[in-house]
Amino acid sequence: MISAIDVPYKWALMIREPMTRWSSGNATLLGDACHPTLPFLAQGAGMALEDGYLIARCLEHYENDLPRALERFESLRLERTSRIVRGSAANTKRFHNPALAHAEGAAEYVDREWSEERVKERYNWLFEYDVDAVEV
Ligand SMILES: Cc1cc2nc3c(=O)[nH]c(=O)nc-3n(C[C@H](O)[C@H](O)[C@H](O)COP(=O)(O)OP(=O)(O)OC[C@H]3O[C@@H](n4cnc5c(N)ncnc54)[C@H](O)[C@@H]3O)c2cc1C
Repeated sequence: MISAIDVPYKWALMIREPMTRWSSGNATLLGDACHPTLPFLAQGAGMALEDGYLIARCLEHYENDLPRALERFESLRLERTSRIVRGSAANTKRFHNPALAHAEGAAEYVDREWSEERVKERYNWLFEYDVDAVEV
């Protein structure tokens, strides 16, 4: 299949530390522009959608004060998006762990890392977030 591709492109997966701010005055960023992430939590589009929803709520709430609305939007999103970026980076080692190269080590590793308890620890907080419940 790979040899049938006309031009096989490769691209790098870059790890970046989360930004500490991304709004200034009347300008802000959202989505990948302010919290680019590795794909190992599959949350990039989810974060962009949550950003869009919350920025709309902040703009509505602080309708006469744009800088305040954008500052509030950023402060509401910093912790969660940073945790996702770092969690994705942490999964790099989990998904590409040398223990997975051999059947015996792999079984033990998967039993440990993908036990119900460990999976809940790593994923529940992601899916319990409710953009409507966030106080703007
Ligand atoms: C292979 C792959 C798999 C993925 N799987 C998942 C997944 O399972 N779950 C998940 O949640 N996320 C996933 N993502 C991540 C997700 O696609 C991104 O996080 C999301 O698209 C970011 O949205 P965005 O609007 O911030 O940026 P983008 O979707 O990149 O949108 C930016 C837009 O701006 C346009 N643009 C750029 N420069 C200019 C310019 N100068 N003028 C005008 N327009 C411009 C671009 O063409 C683009 O349309 C995946 C990404 C990839 C690459």
